[in-house]
Amino acid sequence: EEVAAKIAAGEVVERPVSVIKELVENALDAKATEIIIETGEAGKRLIEVADNGCGISYEELPLAIARFATSKLKTAEDLFNIRTLGFRGEALASIAAVSRLTLISCPPHAEHGGKIVVQGGKVETYEPAGVPPGTVVRVEDLFYNVPARLKFLKQDSTERNLINALISRYAVAYPEVRFRLVHDGKVFLQTYGHGDRREILATYYGVDVARQMLEVILEEPDLSIQGFTSPIALTRSNRRDITFFVNGRWIQDVALTSALLQAYHTMLMVGRYPISMLFIWLDPETVDVNVHPTKAEVRFRQPERVFSAVQRAVRRALLAQPVG
Ligand code: ADP
Ligand code: MG
Repeated sequence: EEVAAKIAAGEVVERPVSVIKELVENALDAKATEIIIETGEAGKRLIEVADNGCGISYEELPLAIARFATSKLKTAEDLFNIRTLGFRGEALASIAAVSRLTLISCPPHAEHGGKIVVQGGKVETYEPAGVPPGTVVRVEDLFYNVPARLKFLKQDSTERNLINALISRYAVAYPEVRFRLVHDGKVFLQTYGHGDRREILATYYGVDVARQMLEVILEEPDLSIQGFTSPIALTRSNRRDITFFVNGRWIQDVALTSALLQAYHTMLMVGRYPISMLFIWLDPETVDVNVHPTKAEVRFRQPERVFSAVQRAVRRALLAQPVG
């Protein structure tokens, strides 16, 4: 069982940023309006994510860290209509298998909350606690019992860059949520929940880039696209800055990327890529997100329709750009 848990953990938890992604998704599913992320030594020593969401009751804490236990799906049919970021019920269990995990939580109006500590998958402490509403997840000494993974981690600056890229994307995607990202006591990113995506773009890419970004907008029955894409003059030498969110979830999709690039047609020089951030919303029943444990890939029921919508939306933005 312990081996199986570690193998499952290996699929979900590759590095500190994968832990943070799962914890932030949980906070968003909990309808938090404030999410604070702190790291120590780029997440290798410490990751802490605190939110003011719906919390977990004292009684349900053990369930939250159990494998394949999710509160987000009630029936098998729900799997074809996923409206939350999590649904596999394995993130907390997987993280707990390869770290020391402390979960402190309290639902609003509950008499008391609770605290549970799990080390290498084994529960060490489980007790009631008087804590403010919301949830704090603390992950210490990630991969202390998986030396191979530990060796595979990059230097702190590289791991931190991945975390920064993740949180700034989620901050733009959820502009009404306040995010704060703190590395070793220093605030890297802070947003205020004003709902202004361009303002948040500016905190990451700078005011100049944020101002130049073209607005993308397309509304169709059951399909909408919002976001930003850069004018031809503003390109980069790698495609890392092309981002897609589908129904609020950051996904990596080669076909979507090539649809976007085709919209630029011959305007892009070889080896140059736009900065793009597109938020695609469609009927959850037409997207299969249960393709991979990290949920970073999706399958569309009508891929051609989605790709063509992306192309039209981006072409329109490019045509509307001011000349000169
Ligand atoms: P999943 O998100 O797929 O359901 P997780 O392992 O990530 O699985 O979380 C297990 C369960 O713990 C969730 O279904 C949810 O009920 C609870 N949970 C986890 N994090 C939070 C949080 N930040 N706020 C409220 N509930 C949470
Ligand atoms: Mg989850």
